[in-house]
Amino acid sequence: MPDSVPGIHHVTAITGDVQKNVDFYVRVLGLRFIKKTVNFDVPDTYHLYFGDYLGTPGTALTFFGWPQLPWAPQGVGQVTTVAFAVPEGSLGYWSQRLTGMGVETARAERFGLGVIAFRDADEMQLELVGQASDDRWCPWQEGPVPPQHQIRGFHSVRLTVREDEPSERFLVEVMGFRETGREGGQLRLATGAGGPDSLLDLLATRRAPAGVEATGTVHHVAWRARDDDHQRAWRKRLVGADRQVTPVIDRKYFHSIYFREPGGVLFEIATDGPGFTVDEPPDRLGSELQLPPQYEGRRQRLTFDLPPIRVPTFAGSPPG
Ligand code: ZN
Repeated sequence: MPDSVPGIHHVTAITGDVQKNVDFYVRVLGLRFIKKTVNFDVPDTYHLYFGDYLGTPGTALTFFGWPQLPWAPQGVGQVTTVAFAVPEGSLGYWSQRLTGMGVETARAERFGLGVIAFRDADEMQLELVGQASDDRWCPWQEGPVPPQHQIRGFHSVRLTVREDEPSERFLVEVMGFRETGREGGQLRLATGAGGPDSLLDLLATRRAPAGVEATGTVHHVAWRARDDDHQRAWRKRLVGADRQVTPVIDRKYFHSIYFREPGGVLFEIATDGPGFTVDEPPDRLGSELQLPPQYEGRRQRLTFDLPPIRVPTFAGSPPG
């Protein structure tokens, strides 16, 4: 087996209203808007990226802006909760902040950790978990949330499946995840070094409807590959385990392969590099529409057709 995937690389979801989406993730959650580009497969629609200051692998939540799609509840065969890591001592700050901004929250405890559950502007289920590491995180000094309380990237993802056994077997035997706990019908698995950003919770249900590709749902979760060789080794292993895997696809900011785990959830394995500074310097991330070379010729048309986005700025932000 190749070295395990170290953890979550990014999560991609679908929004119906790009401005509301940007307002929520930047103004409310204090993530930095790090990239404005188009969906490389549907180039007349946005692909928006939020993350820490640099979009460090493990911090980037991305959205396809698909206003024509109807809304549907998250369901079986999908990632149904995206959990972010915050310092344990910051949960009080976040409860107050979210409530003060009109976001309905619920406090819980899971696997011994404090959790705040809430929904985004498209009613997608999110959580803040009080367990964080600063190891792979770059604070955004000009953001609306003080650095000591800022989101440190992902904590975990919850997968909802019809039966847990096939997914569990695949994750453990093929992908090398290991069990770290069982609670309330959920199995917690870890990859890599374990801890925040490497966790996956598996929940089996016979009742929930099948998930469909819709506004307010997660499209896929990507796991990290350290480099192209590491990704190639994983592709070989997955093909050897009878998974249907795409060829390596150049996503400009990383290289990707895609496949489904047995429960139907779409997985990606994405390389850590080259990263989001490949076409903009760190202090300008997210400031211009960035296009891959194959769509540069359509820039004028795309700029005209795509709805404008106003990215909130905050006191202390440099002008421009
Ligand atoms: Zn992706």
